[in-house]
Amino acid sequence: MRAVVFHGPGDLRYEEVPWPTPGRGEIVVRIEAALTCGTDVKTLRRGHPVMIPRVPTVFGHELAGSVSAVGAGVTNVREGDRVAAANSAPCGECRSCGHGRPNLCEDLLFVNGAYGEAIALPARLVRRNVVHLSRRVQAARAAFAEPLACALGGIERARLESGQTVVIFGHGPLGCLLGLVAASRNARVILVGKAGWRLEQVKQLKIAECVDATATPDPVQALRAMTGGRGAEITIDATGRPEVWEQAIATAGRGGTVVFFGGCAPGTTVSLDTRRVHYEELSLVGAFHHTPDLIRRAVESLETSALNPDGLLTHRMGLEGVRPALDLMARGEAMKVLIEP
Ligand SMILES: [Zn+2]
Ligand SMILES: [Zn+2]
Repeated sequence: MRAVVFHGPGDLRYEEVPWPTPGRGEIVVRIEAALTCGTDVKTLRRGHPVMIPRVPTVFGHELAGSVSAVGAGVTNVREGDRVAAANSAPCGECRSCGHGRPNLCEDLLFVNGAYGEAIALPARLVRRNVVHLSRRVQAARAAFAEPLACALGGIERARLESGQTVVIFGHGPLGCLLGLVAASRNARVILVGKAGWRLEQVKQLKIAECVDATATPDPVQALRAMTGGRGAEITIDATGRPEVWEQAIATAGRGGTVVFFGGCAPGTTVSLDTRRVHYEELSLVGAFHHTPDLIRRAVESLETSALNPDGLLTHRMGLEGVRPALDLMARGEAMKVLIEP
């Protein structure tokens, strides 16, 4: 089959690889839709020891399609079923899994290979993190299951209540998905981004009030002014930049919650105003990845259109378009690119 294979940082090749066959407990999914992701851009630049422990591997991790072959012993999926699959599966046995936090599984199994004509999904993933799709939902929409599950998890960590104000730093696809989820829960959503093609795109989607951080010398001051001087009940970083983590803390009001959703480069640190964290009882929480439950909830929201992220698909290409698509993403000239093998 044709596939886009990651051989190491900067080395992505469009090549011919063997068509996958399912081993025991495995299934093969013929990919109908794959989506580009900011993580792909980061991984292509510097590699990813957790998500991609071995190279070469077929790249890409957001997908939906139909089952073309089923291995021995598989009982929950049949040939012809339409499915969305997460890009990981927890072990179900470690301490974190036992405590109901499978996103923190000590043995999370990651799966890559959305940018190919087909993918073999390992037995553990088939058992825990493959979700059936109804006939009516389009594959392109269903492929949002994984990033949307991350956004649902982030909003869950924020303990968002109706009527609260949420400030989201970052106007990439995940900042937008977080905004969509928050807006669907009747929050006032303010999205902070930087001037450019993407911010114009986001404004047109009307997900949130948009603030251009480059148009004001002091974004924190501007955001405090927009929230009656008090700051927001909830702030979320979706940029993965330490200086923005600090802005997120500074923008939260008394008793507020700050969600660190964007992962920063290894070794980075931030400084904290200890007085505020203590006397204003700020809650500082991390948010990482997703759980099988969040994946199921994401698929359900997509199928019912309770959440509709279609507007984030700004381009559509074939497999040969993956490299140019990721270049567009890196330049901030695409939100999400739909790849149809
Ligand atoms: Zn992703
Ligand atoms: Zn586990």
